[in-house]
Amino acid sequence: MKKYYLDNFIWNKETSEIRGLPRPYVKVNKLYYFLKPVGFKNKFKRYLHTIVPIPWQSIPLFDNFGALLDVNIDHESEVVKNGLCAYCGIKFKEKEICIRWTTQNFMPTVDGKNSSLDKNIFPRSRVFSDSYPHHLECMQQARIFCPFMRTLIDKNFEIGEYDILRSNHFKHIEMLKNTYMGAKNEL
Ligand SMILES: [Zn+2]
Repeated sequence: MKKYYLDNFIWNKETSEIRGLPRPYVKVNKLYYFLKPVGFKNKFKRYLHTIVPIPWQSIPLFDNFGALLDVNIDHESEVVKNGLCAYCGIKFKEKEICIRWTTQNFMPTVDGKNSSLDKNIFPRSRVFSDSYPHHLECMQQARIFCPFMRTLIDKNFEIGEYDILRSNHFKHIEMLKNTYMGAKNEL
């Protein structure tokens, strides 16, 4: 597990600014070990691991049932603008092989709030960096520690050169925008 966290490298205001892997971590309250507050199917017995590394773009909450992470708006706004990996905060090289989640189906918002039209669906908080490329190793870690990401399967992702995946990200957002605006007009 050393690859996923360093001893005493605990998440706080200072460590949250450090880029790269491993990420600073939080120790999760026992309450959350088996808590399954969300509707999606989870084949795992455990909901959260004892220790959870925190993505560069996130702020740990764990104090509000259902909401595990909040968005670090400053970091989030840098991801697409500067071509960074949301998990570690490091910039991609043009042809770097990376991975992107392709089945995100809610229109993202800047802060992740109100990204679903249906307020009964919770949580469906999506941000723009969700469908943006990630490093292979970073996505692997997200798929271990994030209770939602770990329910996804390999075909929910695409792997390829950064510049191609970045372009696919923008097409994806455009498609969501059309769907979202279309649905709004029908209401
Ligand atoms: Zn990364």
